[in-house]
Amino acid sequence: MWFKRDLRVHDHAPLVAARTYADALAIFIIEPEWLASPDCDASHVDFALACLAELRAALAARGLPLLVRVGSAVAVLAQLRSEVAFTDLLSHEETGAAWSYARDRQVAAWCASCGIPWQQFNQTGVIRGLRNRAGWVRRWQARMDTPLHLLDGPWNAALPLDQPALPTLASLGLSPHGKTLQAAGERAARRTLSSFVQVRSHGYRKALSSPLSAEDGCSRLSPHLAFGTISLRTVHQATELAIRNTPERELAYALRGFARRLRWHCHFMQKLEDEPNIEFHNFARVCDGLREDAFNDENFEAWCAGRTGYPMVDACMRSLRATGWLNFRMRAMLVSFASYHLWLHWRQTGLFLARQFLDFEPGIHWSQMQMQSGTTGINTLRMYSPTKQAHDQDPQGVFIRRWVPELAKVPLPYLAEPWKMDPSVQHMAGCRMGVDYPLPIVDDKAAMAFAKEKMYGLRKTPQARVEAADVQDRHGSRKSGLPPSGQRRKTKTPREREAPSPQGDLFS
Ligand SMILES: Cc1cc2nc3c(=O)[nH]c(=O)nc-3n(C[C@H](O)[C@H](O)[C@H](O)COP(=O)(O)OP(=O)(O)OC[C@H]3O[C@@H](n4cnc5c(N)ncnc54)[C@H](O)[C@@H]3O)c2cc1C
Repeated sequence: MWFKRDLRVHDHAPLVAARTYADALAIFIIEPEWLASPDCDASHVDFALACLAELRAALAARGLPLLVRVGSAVAVLAQLRSEVAFTDLLSHEETGAAWSYARDRQVAAWCASCGIPWQQFNQTGVIRGLRNRAGWVRRWQARMDTPLHLLDGPWNAALPLDQPALPTLASLGLSPHGKTLQAAGERAARRTLSSFVQVRSHGYRKALSSPLSAEDGCSRLSPHLAFGTISLRTVHQATELAIRNTPERELAYALRGFARRLRWHCHFMQKLEDEPNIEFHNFARVCDGLREDAFNDENFEAWCAGRTGYPMVDACMRSLRATGWLNFRMRAMLVSFASYHLWLHWRQTGLFLARQFLDFEPGIHWSQMQMQSGTTGINTLRMYSPTKQAHDQDPQGVFIRRWVPELAKVPLPYLAEPWKMDPSVQHMAGCRMGVDYPLPIVDDKAAMAFAKEKMYGLRKTPQARVEAADVQDRHGSRKSGLPPSGQRRKTKTPREREAPSPQGDLFS
């Protein structure tokens, strides 16, 4: 039983299937390819190690040993086979970044060469080998409504293998990350779910947009869903139950909004499943060349450091770097600022953000990076004004003052645009512009005018229109349940062509 991004005991299909074997062994592999991948951060590994410590204890209580080994997946599995001659491999399907996709292909080839059946179970609403999006929502719903997988009783036979202590960040060669992360593990995930559904969801709709209220008002389940310490199905079913049981219309409405986002989770992951290249290439290839040659390292460094001279952008970036989390709107603003104001390519900024987000989920992340950068070809272009966002989402300046202490004494009327302070106000506020806090690294109006001309100009071209129809056909949501053009793709998707065939899909 190979644990991947599914570090839990409850609602775990492969674990339940492993109960049918006379003896079993669980393994998690810390792969050098993961540690070396440019989207991986020590904070991700730290969170995973804490989840593994709890998981190991939970499995030990059920009589199942959990080995944690470091190495490339095929090498570790081959070594394990030489030790215990295992006959079957069980795991969940994974819709991950390029390195894990390549690894899955290698493992599939190795399993085939040794005659070991590798049974992969789905754990989300992502459908492998999907031809088009017709009926996708219905299938998602059916999977989410399937009863949870329950483990019935402990294992009898523990295999006689040493279980050395878990590695540490230092033993893996990683430096401390310095972030204050939310609590890891399955128990924390279940606590987070129940506190949200029972209490915190009351203010969800109003809390979503401001980074101040979102911190507590959003569910904060994203790292748990990313590392699989709770299943999406568990969250979905708890939400549906709460909707059915509440007499309050307003609460039911809030919970329905939340339930929709659980579907978006898989909707975006499905895009990467269907087209793995979106991690590297524009959805709309007409956007190729738009920003590639314009990358400005100094602007990039200032954006990463939270020193752009735009207080709301800087506060959001510093908060994210300290905690590993930020609400949706502020993530979108950070990307909009990087892609439109600074004209930086989404790949480099996306890798930096991937390392900062504790909930890094490749399918959601790369789709959103492209959406907020205008390169999907199909979504409305959203260019956020950092000044307007400061006024709307932090009207009292609490968030800015908390994360940009240089501006702590700046009077509220100047807080979103401190460059407008004259020297006497700067003196009173103890903040010299260009010395204590940077002047804006770009001019807002000029940068916006440039970006609008480029983006809207491109969208009008015939090639952009043709491509938009194609992207919509492949990836667009289907409210009607039918593809918009009536066309159906006959070719296999890349993962279906190259990845191991999806066996053991219990839900379709
Ligand atoms: C540039 C950018 C990158 C992002 N990268 C990620 C990522 O790597 N991982 C990630 O989980 N989310 C990502 N998001 C989406 C969203 O910002 C986070 O899911 C959300 O902020 C997580 O906090 P929460 O769990 O409290 O959200 P809640 O509002 O409580 O939502 C519950 C769950 O619904 C899903 N969800 C919510 N919003 C979205 C959305 N817009 N798209 C897809 N799923 C959604 C998530 O699984 C989330 O945990 C990204 C958004 C942007 C703009």
